[in-house]
Amino acid sequence: MTDKLPPGAPAADPLAQCATRLIQHPYEAPTGFGSVMPGVFKASTVFFENTAALRSREWKDKTGYTYGLHGTPTTFILEERLASLEGGLQTLLAPSGLSALTLVAQGLLKAGDEVLIPDNAYAPNRDFTRVELAAWGIAHRVYDQQDPASLASLISERTRLIWLEAPGSVTLEFPDLQALLAVARRHPHAVVALDNTWGAGLAFNPFELGVPAPTDTRGVDLTVHALTKYPSGGADVLMGSVVTRDEALHLKLKLTHMRLGLGVGANDAEALLRGLPSLPLRYAAHDDATRRVAQWWQGRSEVSQVLHPALRGSPGHEAWAKVASRAGGLVSVVFDGERHRSEQVDAFVDALRLFRIGYSWGGPMSLVMPYGLRGMRQHGAFAGLKSGTLVRFAIGLENVDDLLADLDQALGAMRLTG
Ligand SMILES: *Cc1c(COP(=O)(O)O)cnc(C)c1O
Repeated sequence: MTDKLPPGAPAADPLAQCATRLIQHPYEAPTGFGSVMPGVFKASTVFFENTAALRSREWKDKTGYTYGLHGTPTTFILEERLASLEGGLQTLLAPSGLSALTLVAQGLLKAGDEVLIPDNAYAPNRDFTRVELAAWGIAHRVYDQQDPASLASLISERTRLIWLEAPGSVTLEFPDLQALLAVARRHPHAVVALDNTWGAGLAFNPFELGVPAPTDTRGVDLTVHALTKYPSGGADVLMGSVVTRDEALHLKLKLTHMRLGLGVGANDAEALLRGLPSLPLRYAAHDDATRRVAQWWQGRSEVSQVLHPALRGSPGHEAWAKVASRAGGLVSVVFDGERHRSEQVDAFVDALRLFRIGYSWGGPMSLVMPYGLRGMRQHGAFAGLKSGTLVRFAIGLENVDDLLADLDQALGAMRLTG
């Protein structure tokens, strides 16, 4: 005996009657809805009015829509706002800051090329360069970002991409961007790219550093941002961007972006659009609070060094002062290995109550992260160290006096561990 499938739905079946209406309803909302926040447009499919529109649709500029992956009103608006932040002209959005960095390398480099990267670059970008790019036959060299002669000595005919970062990750040395750019500009075959996550387009203008470029700018050729950090401001979104001023460079990267299938979610784009209006206020608040914390650390005998670009005596302070006035929300301190075993520094970190242990920064909550200095750098004062611990603080938006009291009590707990 076989089970017979029931016959098709009768004409009066309410399910059949509403199915089409729930998908294709004749009502259309009036256009012209105006509000502060742009709408959250979510789509894979977008419509073409007819085949002529399908054939003639231009996807490369923002005059039309072809597919959700290639842009919606929400992502177009976010791209335009981000570009204007640092005086750029075009923006590409990527699912994370790291994917924005790797997009640049994938778009610009091929087997046989070389990329130069600073000693203190964001570590995952160094790892991508060292492991993935090497596997594709793309070589790299690590230069001393505090010494423009080091960059000059490593550039070759094969150099196609030069990374800058200001200040460097974790150790926060600020490079002389103008001097590095002047060196790079003697080799117009190399694109100069800046990871500008720390500056967020607010600390200094990377496209106007006063060094003429082959392209339409007087600064770097492109910037990358981890929007995850300050632009989001919530510690709850991952996104990255690549901002350019040169149409040809933008198009080259946009084609790679499309082929790689990089897209961002509409709700994440909306979260970014919510964060942008308060970005300058938040950045200034992080900056002011962090300077107070840095000064406080300068008066403490437990640490041998305080690293913060706006602090006199911090590596690259003069280079920072030449181009920048703002300084973001990061400060690092060094616990000398001779005086403090790493277990003692761990005890200090564990005793903190307001500072939570965690990666990233730019959100409302203050964070702390310890790093062993051994093997961390090839150049500069941290190269060749056998011991020592650096502790990085990301200063949030809490009351600074509460943060200082927390640091003070945690240092007390460290002393008890002997
Ligand atoms: C956090 C960070 C990134 C990567 O951002 P994600 O969104 O976490 O991938 C890149 N560069 C710098 C300097 C960063 O601090």
